Amino acid sequence: MKRILVTGGAGFIGSHLCRALIHQGHHVICLDNFYTGVLSNISDLQNHSNFEIINHDVSEVLTIKAEQIYNCACPASPIHYQKHPVRTITTCVLGMKNLLDLALKNNCPILQCSTSEVYGSPTIHPQTEDYWGNVNPIGPRSCYDEGKRCAETLCFDYHREHGIDIKVARIFNTYGPNMSINDGRVVSNLIVQALKNEMISIYGDGSQTRSFCYISDMITALISLMNQARHINGPINLGNPHEISIIELASLIIKLTESQSKLIYQALPKDDPKQRQPDITLAKKQLNWQPEIKLEIGLEKTIDNFRTVLKG
Ligand code: NAD
Ligand code: UDP
Repeated sequence: MKRILVTGGAGFIGSHLCRALIHQGHHVICLDNFYTGVLSNISDLQNHSNFEIINHDVSEVLTIKAEQIYNCACPASPIHYQKHPVRTITTCVLGMKNLLDLALKNNCPILQCSTSEVYGSPTIHPQTEDYWGNVNPIGPRSCYDEGKRCAETLCFDYHREHGIDIKVARIFNTYGPNMSINDGRVVSNLIVQALKNEMISIYGDGSQTRSFCYISDMITALISLMNQARHINGPINLGNPHEISIIELASLIIKLTESQSKLIYQALPKDDPKQRQPDITLAKKQLNWQPEIKLEIGLEKTIDNFRTVLKG
């Protein structure tokens, strides 16, 4: 049994991670400032003797005993991270520094939830880890993109300067149960709209692509990455390479929900990446991992969960 700190543990990915680690028999400390996270995501764990919740902001210094640290603390949806951009970049950079200092004190490994956004609007396709990206440093997405890029820099500098065992996961779009219905991301928006038979919002002409990974596949990969004894000398892409346009995603969700919804086209947000698909050759090789849940199956599970939440 290990003492494991999960920051952002009340959020979408963090809550699934806490649950998986508890099921593996670990003691889990879930730290969150509840900016986008909610207690209901972890209510089933609250009374577990191996589960603790700490209300704290990662941009403030912290002292906690831990044997592993997963850093999931940061809003991931554009509407949330753009609402308070200074807070977002502070969470990314100061939060990362505080957690790296904590990892140094504890002499323990730390896994950073980085993002495919470090590639910006990519000019190479699919994206490999050696691609440096195409990021606007001063646009509305920059607080997140550049914040996450700087957080990666800090990880590698702490590794070079202090020898910390760092694991940097570049997470591509991930979806599943426990996404907030008000999250603003495409999967949650479209499912809620379809279930309510409301207009389905397509930003731009819907030809932009994303590649969606089901949450259980992502959790398996994150835990496997954390437990690699061998140091992986660089970031690693985690995601599902199945690429789909937003229009195709909307049709699939309408079909699976048997919805009467029609599409409504809205303005494309500034700097919205045109295409995104992970090259996961490295993850396959290093982690012996690849996603197993097909989009249609994952969407069905997510739709079932959203149906229940909307009824409640
Ligand atoms: P989420 O918004 O559901 O969860 C983020 C959690 O972090 C929330 O519980 C929030 O309250 C907490 N948080 C935010 N700022 C904090 C702070 N300063 N101090 C403490 N807690 C704070 O998002 P998610 O989808 O679960 O994303 C988790 C991590 O994975 C994020 O770092 C995100 O950048 C990364 N990521 C997610 C995706 C995805 O598709 N979901 C893709 C790429 C990267
Ligand atoms: N999008 C959309 N309708 C929505 C929400 C998002 O068409 O209601 C588009 C958005 O413009 C982007 C894609 O879907 O091209 C994925 O958006 P999301 O916010 O989920 O993730 P990200 O842009 O960070 O990959």
